[in-house]
Amino acid sequence: MGESKAMFNAGEVEKARRVRLKPINRQQMVLRPVEVEKLVPEDHEVRAVWEFVGRMDLSEYYEEIEAVEGEAGRPALDPQLMVSLWVYAYSKGVSSAREIGRLCEYDPAYQWVTGLEPVNYHTLSDFRVDHQDALDELFIEVLGLLSVEGLISLERVMHDGMKVKACASGDTFRREERIRKHLELAREQVEAMGDPRIAEEVSPRVAKARQRAAREKKERLEKALEELEKIRATKSSKGEKAEVRVSMTDPEARVMKQSDGGYAPSYNAQISTDAKERVIVGVGVSQCGSDYEELVPAEERVEEAMGSAPEQMVTDGGFVSRENILAMKEKGIDFIGPMGVGVAQSAGQMKRRGVDPSFYPEAFDYDAASDTYRCPAGKSLRPDGQEKRPGRTNYKYRASAADCQRCRFKERCCPQNETMGRAIVRGVDDPVVVAHREKMETEEAKQIYRHRGEVAEFPNAWIKEKIGLRQFRLRGLVKVGMELLWACLAYNIQQWIRLCWRLQWAQF
Ligand code: SF4
Repeated sequence: MGESKAMFNAGEVEKARRVRLKPINRQQMVLRPVEVEKLVPEDHEVRAVWEFVGRMDLSEYYEEIEAVEGEAGRPALDPQLMVSLWVYAYSKGVSSAREIGRLCEYDPAYQWVTGLEPVNYHTLSDFRVDHQDALDELFIEVLGLLSVEGLISLERVMHDGMKVKACASGDTFRREERIRKHLELAREQVEAMGDPRIAEEVSPRVAKARQRAAREKKERLEKALEELEKIRATKSSKGEKAEVRVSMTDPEARVMKQSDGGYAPSYNAQISTDAKERVIVGVGVSQCGSDYEELVPAEERVEEAMGSAPEQMVTDGGFVSRENILAMKEKGIDFIGPMGVGVAQSAGQMKRRGVDPSFYPEAFDYDAASDTYRCPAGKSLRPDGQEKRPGRTNYKYRASAADCQRCRFKERCCPQNETMGRAIVRGVDDPVVVAHREKMETEEAKQIYRHRGEVAEFPNAWIKEKIGLRQFRLRGLVKVGMELLWACLAYNIQQWIRLCWRLQWAQF
């Protein structure tokens, strides 16, 4: 070892210079004063939420409070506090009552709202779903204020749907027989819960929790049987005979196609957005995977919340049907949405009937003067009745049975027709539908439609990405509807913070 190394020996260094370090004392008790008002800066977003909620009429919530002055019992938590906590939490992507309860213990923003008071997560959880009417009213109140601030015009409302996964996995779906077996067991379990010998084995709190869990399971299974019947009725009205299965965890969820092409138990969230400042003006949840039937209810929700109908509604092709075009026309709403060709007889139908592609309807020539069709074999197809449908009349034409039975093309043209001649259907759209189709060809309509994606999909993306609502935490149509409404409420208040509240700080 050289001389220089020896110089850096630790002992030598300590001799030359004694280092002093600050001790860490984890045994001490510290009492620090906290100025609650200073927990968050003046321009902190949580103050905006508190201020906004403070402007709302929360009387529906106050009316439901049982604790009153002069009577025994614990005072209730202020609805302004509870609403503010949920709105702020949702806007930060927190949708768990337990998580909010934890945050109230250490996060300055949550501590500021609660004034450092702890909030029990059961209370938070119950508050989210116990006041449906009050929440609906609050959503409308918020829209009223945003309207006064000039953030809503109703000149153009973009409507869209998005599938949100239910709180149930695909392997919870069972047939009727299995559900009945589980229900029998659940009923026995509920009855056994009343046995005092079992209740004695555990603490009263645990016994109560177990009783509640068993009761809820029994109710879910009873609901599953109800839903099973509903699905069965719908399928039989459509002439479908497929086997019916339903989730035992969330019986009201339905298997729906997702944007990635896969299938999962879901709900169809319907959101209407005012194009002016992208404020959500209507929210609904449906059990139906397709969007065709959701446009009219969506418009009605907007009208009910805002007190007047939108001047224009814009949707993607999934909402465009002849019924919807007529319904919007009747309501005096300018409807923008691309329409498919809408053939009377699809290629799929032809294929199922074993028709060769060279004998599809396009191969038949229509003669308007005689109102007949001429088939590839040169035979006439004459009028054979008509069927009126919303927005369209289907005129049927048929060749004579004798012509077809003798025809050399029979096996390629109408192989399944044993006693009748080949039929062709000519669909004639209602003038309103024709006008819609023509309007959608104009540059103006195309331009409006191009704008749809960025407006309608913005809140959807925000709700999924920022709020994190990719899967519902709650179960059942009513509760998931409320969960979505809380998310949309948080979104709308964020829009107000961004467009109005922040401005006042920008001016300082
Ligand atoms: S089967 Fe009937 S409709 Fe078809 S080509 Fe022959 S005659 Fe015409």
